[in-house]
Amino acid sequence: MIALGVGKEDYIITTPFTFIATAGVISFLGSKPLFIDIDERTFNIDTRKLEKFLEKTDEKVKGIIAVDLFGQTANYDEIHRITEKYRLFVLEDGAQPLGAEYRGKGACSLEDISTTSFFPPKPLCCFGDGGMVFTNNDKIAEKIKLIRNHGQSERYKHEVIGLNLRLDNLQAAVLLGKFGAFVNQEIDNRIRGC
Ligand SMILES: *Cc1c(COP(=O)(O)O)cnc(C)c1O
Repeated sequence: MIALGVGKEDYIITTPFTFIATAGVISFLGSKPLFIDIDERTFNIDTRKLEKFLEKTDEKVKGIIAVDLFGQTANYDEIHRITEKYRLFVLEDGAQPLGAEYRGKGACSLEDISTTSFFPPKPLCCFGDGGMVFTNNDKIAEKIKLIRNHGQSERYKHEVIGLNLRLDNLQAAVLLGKFGAFVNQEIDNRIRGC
C-alpha cells in the first residue's frame, strides 16, 4: 500500500472477519478502513454488499483488500466486475490460501499485488517470521524492493522513505529448502488431513 501511495485521505475496504493485520495496516498508514460484511457461506467479502456500498458511498475509496480466509479464495470474478467500474485497486491478502486455486490460477497470483505470510501456522511456513509480496507489475516490484530496504537503491543511496522489511537469510534458506516439498507433498498431506 505504501508502493501504491495510499495515504491519509484514502478509504480502503476490507472485511471485518480476518486477522487484525489486514485492517491494522490500513490504519497504520493513516488511511481509513471500511468494513464490508462477509458472505456467511464463504466467510469472505460479500460482493453484493460491496456493490451496494459502492453505489451509494461518497467516501474517497481507493482500493480493497480481499482476504482468502481459511484457504478459500475470495470471489475475484465478482470483485473485478465491481471494482473495475470504480477504478479501485485490489490487493489479495493471501496469508492463508497458498496452494489453493481459483479458476485454474494459484492463490497469491490472483491480483496485481498479493501477499503471503510464512509465519508458522500458515500453509507454507519458515521457522519464524517471514512473508512475501507477489506482483506481475515491474514498476511496483521495484518500488517494493526499495521500500523493504530503507528506500535504498545502492549503498547509502536512499530514493524513498522505507523500512526494514527484509526477509532474513536464515528464513530464506529454510523456505528455499521447503518450496519443492510444499508443492510435491505438503499440499496433498494437508488435503488428506495429515
Ligand atoms: C497471519 C495473517 C496475516 C499476518 O501475517 P504476519 O506474517 O503475521 O504479518 C495477515 N492476514 C491474514 C488473513 C493472516 O491470517
